[in-house]
Amino acid sequence: AAADADEFDFFYFVQQWPGSFCDTQRGCCFPDTGKPEPEFGIHGLWPNYAKCRPANDGPDAAASIDMVVGGHHRRQKCWPEYCDDSNQLLPFAIRDLISELAGNWPTLSCKNGGGGPSIEFWAYEWKKHGTCSGLGQHGYFAAALDLKRRDGGLAGILAAAGIVPSEDERYLLSGIRGAIANATGAIPNLECNRDAFGETQLYQVYQCVARDGKTLIDCPLPMSGRCSDRVKMPPF
Ligand code: 5GP
Ligand code: 5GP
Repeated sequence: AAADADEFDFFYFVQQWPGSFCDTQRGCCFPDTGKPEPEFGIHGLWPNYAKCRPANDGPDAAASIDMVVGGHHRRQKCWPEYCDDSNQLLPFAIRDLISELAGNWPTLSCKNGGGGPSIEFWAYEWKKHGTCSGLGQHGYFAAALDLKRRDGGLAGILAAAGIVPSEDERYLLSGIRGAIANATGAIPNLECNRDAFGETQLYQVYQCVARDGKTLIDCPLPMSGRCSDRVKMPPF
């Protein structure tokens, strides 16, 4: 497990558009702190290897895949996960970050009836991804908040490029990617999902971050991400 943490190549800093999480067939629930702002929310900071894509993508994403290398099937890891199950997130370790996390990393899941505390989401992300990051508990959540603060909000970046939440507008995927690349200096990957009517919409933005947890880099691997050329960005 320790080796996993040492070997990864880059991070995905993943943010979700709440409008697209909530308008699916499944719907969403708000956390105990109430309806979040109409801004992208953090999903996680995920250590990643640079070797699996594009075979391992979108709906087929898996922590490891079979690849044919020199005529032989080889199990290839795409990312490390659950590197230390005994390392549980301690609220005390992140006590100074909790209010900023609540605003920027809200849970929208309806698990356990919904309306729960977002720290359950953070604790899950910590256990699955954070324990492989080489960062401590405080360092991991501080790094995510720093990244989020740096870009000043993806919704604002998109709005400045004329890409605003709308019930019926369709936006060029390349326009969305370009607006974020221009504003942040690094090319992101994009993931889409479908609303209750089956329309494709922007769901998550994957920004790529160097191993230092700070420097944005162009994403090294393409991602089909289930998007089409034009996608919706529904209001929240
Ligand atoms: P999904 O099936 O929703 O694409 O992904 C489910 C979960 O698998 C994600 O929430 C995340 O925990 C993990 N995951 C999916 N894609 C990637 C990836 O490219 N890198 C890493 N590190 N984890 C991923
Ligand atoms: P991942 O897709 O990161 O492996 O799993 C995310 C887990 O966190 C799922 O079990 C999901 O139910 C839970 N979760 C809690 N709140 C959220 C949220 O707002 N967005 C997403 N994508 N997952 C959430």
